[in-house]
Amino acid sequence: MTPADKAFEIAEEMRETFNLLSPFIEKHTSIVCPDCDKVCCAERHGCYDGDDIFFFKALGIDVSQEVINTGGNGPCRFISEKGCVLERWKRPFRCTHFFCDALLKSLENDNAKLYRAFVEYFRHLIRLRQKLTGGTDINHV
Ligand code: SF4
Ligand code: SF4
Repeated sequence: MTPADKAFEIAEEMRETFNLLSPFIEKHTSIVCPDCDKVCCAERHGCYDGDDIFFFKALGIDVSQEVINTGGNGPCRFISEKGCVLERWKRPFRCTHFFCDALLKSLENDNAKLYRAFVEYFRHLIRLRQKLTGGTDINHV
C-alpha cells in the first residue's frame, strides 16, 4: 500500500466517522442553537487550516485558495437559515471540535449510553486525524 493509499484509507474512515457523529450533534444543535444570541458561525471560523487541507488532499479533493482564508468577523459564508450548508465532513474541523457550554450540557444530558458512544466516536475521529496529519490535537471530550 502506498502512503497515498494509506492516507486515503484513513481519510475515508474519518469521513465515515464524521457521518456517524453528525446526527447526535445535529440533534443537540437543533435544540440549543435557535435560541443562541451569540452564534459561533463567524467568517473566520469557516476557514480551513493546514490539517483540513491535508485531509481533503488525501481524499483527492482540491480546496481552492478562496475557501482557505477569509479572515473577517462577519457571518460565515456557509451559514443559512437552516444552519450550515456543508456536510459535516466538509466543514473545517474546528466546527465539529467546538462545543459551547450550552451545547456540551445538552449532549451530556442525553441518554448516558448514547453520550458514551458519541465520546468514543469523537475520540476515534481525533485519533484518526492525528494519525493522518501527525498533529497534536488534544482530547476535547
Ligand atoms: S453551538 Fe453554541 S455558540 Fe454556536 S450557535 Fe449553537 S448555541 Fe450558539
Ligand atoms: S459550521 Fe458551517 S456555517 Fe458554521 S462556521 Fe463552520 S463552516 Fe461556517
